[in-house]
Amino acid sequence: MPLTEPIVQLQHLQKHYVRKGMWRRDEVLRAVDGVSLFIKKGETLGLVGESGSGKSTTGQLAAGLIPTSTGTILFKGKDVTKVSGTEAKAMHKQIQYVFQDPYASLNPRHRIAELLEEPLRIHRIGNKADRKRMVMEMLERIGLNESYERMYTHELSGGQRQRIGIARSLMLNPEFLILDEPVSALDVSVQSQLLNVLKELQRHYSLTYLFISHDLNVVHYMSDRVAVMYLGKIVEIAEVSEVYEKPLHPYTQALVSAIPSENRHSRREKIILKGDIGSPLALSGGCAFQSRCMYVEDRCKREVPELKEARRGHSVSCHLV
Ligand code: SF4
Repeated sequence: MPLTEPIVQLQHLQKHYVRKGMWRRDEVLRAVDGVSLFIKKGETLGLVGESGSGKSTTGQLAAGLIPTSTGTILFKGKDVTKVSGTEAKAMHKQIQYVFQDPYASLNPRHRIAELLEEPLRIHRIGNKADRKRMVMEMLERIGLNESYERMYTHELSGGQRQRIGIARSLMLNPEFLILDEPVSALDVSVQSQLLNVLKELQRHYSLTYLFISHDLNVVHYMSDRVAVMYLGKIVEIAEVSEVYEKPLHPYTQALVSAIPSENRHSRREKIILKGDIGSPLALSGGCAFQSRCMYVEDRCKREVPELKEARRGHSVSCHLV
């Protein structure tokens, strides 16, 4: 159950890439363009959007995996981008990132026990016997018995590998986990098992999650609140029931209307969006969604809509709301 205290705050976060375009002119790719949000302790904030919306980049910024262009990342009130030395090391232990494909981050030449022990060794935690005990406890916690400790990652199924990826991220006893599409590469039946493992781990370790996914059903199951991203910006953020039952932004309305009807939380007709998400390079003035919005009007082409509270705890960036 989330408490009221925010543990993570992203403030006006930007990640821009400059590259040479036509006629060798500088082009600015606004991967993340002014994201502000908070996550309360013990809460799961779902981050949804199409591929190219900037949700993974936002997660990587929050984890400190890539530097920000501008903006502030506060973890328990301290700016992650400004700490250094032992303080930075201690803070980064508290924030862990789980990748969609754990295969890439798990050394295939190491046995599972070595993979889980490695973060403890690097941070000089415990002696050999302590570390062995911690590894065995973690294997049990993620639902794998002790026979797995001697296996290699290629001997595991996709779901088991993802359990090991999650277990490894938990070895340093973090408080905040960024889960980037953690179940999207798995079969539906394996997905639900892993989502339940994540919920159980959250309860047991009092974890806070930023849960990134393009799958609205999965996000609905996992999240307390949901933020919807479009071309580098948050366009709507609210409690999960508000977003799924009373979406206010035309983009969110289209996403929710596309959920298969037996699971749909809204009685709206399916809204077919024109075209695809487009490029953050091609952004002109005004609303980033204007080329696909059925309600577009002149003002939308001139003025960027601000993210404003429309109902209590429910913020939207659209001129018509
Ligand atoms: Fe559509 Fe205009 Fe709202 Fe953007 S600001 S979502 S273009 S109505």
